[in-house]
Amino acid sequence: MSPADRYSHLRQTALVREGGRLLDAREWPEHELQACWFAGRFGRDFTTTDGRAVRVVQFGVWNHEAGPDFAEAAVSFDNAKPVRGSIELDPDARDWERHGHATNEDYNGVVLHVFLSVGDAEFFTRTASHRNVPQVRLDASALDEPPTPQPEAKPGRCLAPLRTLPEERVREVLLGAAQYRLRRKSAALARTSELHGPDEALYQALAAALGYKSNKLPFTLLAQRLPLRLLRAAKGDADALLFGVAGFLDQRDLAGFDAPTRGYLRGLWDRWWPRRAEFERLILGKSLWKMSGQRPANHPQRRLAALAQLVRHWPRVRALRDGCEPEALAKFCADLRDDYWDHHYTVTSRQSAKRMALIGETRVTEFLVNVFLPIAVGTDPQRWITFKNLPATLSNRRVDVAALRLFGESPLAASLLKNAAMQQGLLQIYEDFCQRDASDCEQCLFPSQLAKW
Ligand code: SF4
Repeated sequence: MSPADRYSHLRQTALVREGGRLLDAREWPEHELQACWFAGRFGRDFTTTDGRAVRVVQFGVWNHEAGPDFAEAAVSFDNAKPVRGSIELDPDARDWERHGHATNEDYNGVVLHVFLSVGDAEFFTRTASHRNVPQVRLDASALDEPPTPQPEAKPGRCLAPLRTLPEERVREVLLGAAQYRLRRKSAALARTSELHGPDEALYQALAAALGYKSNKLPFTLLAQRLPLRLLRAAKGDADALLFGVAGFLDQRDLAGFDAPTRGYLRGLWDRWWPRRAEFERLILGKSLWKMSGQRPANHPQRRLAALAQLVRHWPRVRALRDGCEPEALAKFCADLRDDYWDHHYTVTSRQSAKRMALIGETRVTEFLVNVFLPIAVGTDPQRWITFKNLPATLSNRRVDVAALRLFGESPLAASLLKNAAMQQGLLQIYEDFCQRDASDCEQCLFPSQLAKW
């Protein structure tokens, strides 16, 4: 049995005994729901509320116009020939009436109404043309990464058993969890690739990795709303479209900026403005972005500029995916040039004489761990060895919290976490056990499962 299979068994046994998930899925913000749906995280095969099998053959595109959320979708009912049309996605089924879709002709082409919850009374989705729209109710608890509250950062009950285990065994458990995590990421990327094609899947995953952690959702939404094929067709205007749809070009008065920044923003603005009306409906709201509390190097505008550069050099990015060599990726990122961002952390910072890399070493490791190696391992399981030997760059707050929970102040944690796979294994255990625990460790089955490893 591979270490990943052993970890999977440990995890499964514990979750089954816990009676499934301890915490309910939270109230979902609509944008997050839409992003998960489009990424295929709920799957593609469902049962309608009246018992028919339904397969989403094509998830369509984010709708630019007034009307339903996703246009040009294709849905098959009971294995029949797919019907084309739009899909509307709502947190609550009754939003259909509340938002006036029942009397709005723009919604006449909806072929599927998808929602998470519905009230006590039976609800029918009707169009202005008096057609009954098939409904699918999603199960948020079926997601593999349920959003859950963060536990307190204090050492947990597994500290003692971990301390008594031989170091080799601790390493094995962490590697098992890391391999399990890698396989899961690989499967998720394969699923997105199946839905949207390998290039779009790679581009969406890179965007999410650039948004990690505070802005993962707006980056994911941007990549879904501005697909790679659209940006590649826009040629030199890709950066302007990304900044415009991100909502970063709404300020007309640039007087407060220094001359290089004014020139840079004016250049983006001039190319965005003629196309603004076309994309207006897709522009992200300001509230989606987390701007404060970020290191300057992680500022979302800087990261967005990095995404624009990846789009610009797409044939090379694709080749890097196919080769999946860590050194080649590091060199490509170190060599990326951007006239403005090479010398500015943010649009409000002063110009720096020293050049700073648009995509630094930490992000390269994130790309490898979350995107390139999970894709590579899908076709070549031996790539696990590269993953296993990858050094970690920086730690982050989640890793630190997880290390504190499981290892306390033990020096073992510091030595283990110099390796990226160990960090990933730790995060997996943290998500599987700590983030599901609502008993202050008392009912957590990880310590007892550990003893049986
Ligand atoms: S919840 Fe479980 S895994 Fe997390 S610290 Fe407590 S005992 Fe350890």
